[in-house]
Amino acid sequence: MAVRRRGLQNFDSMRFRRMDSGPIVWESGRKRHFDAGRRTRGGILPYMELLPAVAVKHGNVEHLKTCCNNVKRGCSVDFLFRNGRVIDPANNFDQIADVLVVNGVVADISPMLEVSAERLAGVEVIDASGKWVTPGLVDMHVHLREPGEEYKETIETGTRAAAAGGFTSVACMPNTRPVNDCAAVTEFILARSKEQGACRVLPVGAISKGLKGEALTEFGELREAGAVAVTDDGRPVTSNQLMRRALEYAKVFDILVISHAEDLSLAEGGVMNEGFTSTLLGLRGIPNAAEEVMVARDLLLAELTHGRVHIAHVSTEGSVRMIREAKSRGVGVTAETAPHYFTLSDAELIDYDPVFKMNPPLRSRDDILAVKAGLADGTLDAIATDHAPHSVIEKDVEIEFAANGVIGLESALPLILGLVREGVLTPMEAIAKASSNPSSILGVSSGSLRRGTPADLTVIDPELRYILDANAFYSKSRNCPFHGKEVQGQALMALVDGKIAFSRMHR
Ligand SMILES: [Zn+2]
Repeated sequence: MAVRRRGLQNFDSMRFRRMDSGPIVWESGRKRHFDAGRRTRGGILPYMELLPAVAVKHGNVEHLKTCCNNVKRGCSVDFLFRNGRVIDPANNFDQIADVLVVNGVVADISPMLEVSAERLAGVEVIDASGKWVTPGLVDMHVHLREPGEEYKETIETGTRAAAAGGFTSVACMPNTRPVNDCAAVTEFILARSKEQGACRVLPVGAISKGLKGEALTEFGELREAGAVAVTDDGRPVTSNQLMRRALEYAKVFDILVISHAEDLSLAEGGVMNEGFTSTLLGLRGIPNAAEEVMVARDLLLAELTHGRVHIAHVSTEGSVRMIREAKSRGVGVTAETAPHYFTLSDAELIDYDPVFKMNPPLRSRDDILAVKAGLADGTLDAIATDHAPHSVIEKDVEIEFAANGVIGLESALPLILGLVREGVLTPMEAIAKASSNPSSILGVSSGSLRRGTPADLTVIDPELRYILDANAFYSKSRNCPFHGKEVQGQALMALVDGKIAFSRMHR
């Protein structure tokens, strides 16, 4: 139990340091703390409930999974996944096979893999019959909120939520406090992730200093510190000239520019999608054009600069159409959408529930169909969650005043698998959009089960039906629009670097 005690102390001391920094009151007791989300939903929780309290048995040593959660300190165990359906889009592989993980890397993949009894001695054999074994999922659009808004989420809780959702890498947006607009903040995020992260964290730097849209950040410095992309996400780059310069400058350092496409003057004062429901409710609407004007601008600038732009959270039919057309002409564009944009429409807001408020807003049923068509024909390359935690302070208020955003890390996978059941995507395509495609867009090496690569791997039960319970999420926040919904498909296990980042198979 030494590990357990050490974990507690580390966790608590981190909380103590932050006691005076935010509006949230942290209980000073050694074994419990609470936050805004937890406090309103059933009172104070014992501290240990915040940790994934799963004991993992490796040989004779029993220790808490939290030990394994730490990628750096995790224990080294070799694994053999038997008889799973191995779906590895990067290598065009989809068949029943065994996967051997040795010393943290994918050692072999083959149907009926022969492993000698002697070799099996130190290997944990996992029966993956009826399950999918895929490359670890990669979420290229996540808000981890640390530094600065740790009452909403931290690198520790956000990455734990990610691993529980099947993600082994997450790209975190720069709109923290301070903004990730220089090497020092990028380095802080990476150091904190190494220390406390349950999965890989890929920092995304800002395009403009302080997200002010005035002066470009030092892309080279950010790149060298470990940033995988740049964006002013949360805000658009309003100056066309600055966006042009960003696309040109990014080419020098081969760094991806991610666009939050929004025309602020068209969106101003808007609470939800402009349409029938907004008229019915008497709420100010945000027209599709608020997104499409900027998508058009960014496509023109990508063409002008021969640069490369990635459009975040595509939500409208017009955006899909324009991206499709641009791609057909060879413009350097990639794009993502989020599960809520192909699952929920603006009709959800009929009860003025702020949990359905986000930016861009939930759109019409026609837009949902267009987003699905865009995913099916490859116009939309990736599915990312835009995981945006908020506490009740920001979210549990009148809809006009509520913050935009929903959490998504622990609900994304079953919704993505829903597209497979609907026939929109094949299993291979669905996994590609959540692993190999975002990896290659970001230029990182994960998202593949190639022999010899670090074993970032997810085991999925595609059949399991259950009710999504946001109160049981590892995320600190509860703003999940799918709470209470019956879904199908769940991540059972996630390995990062061959070590268990999360497991539901070891109870
Ligand atoms: Zn955004």
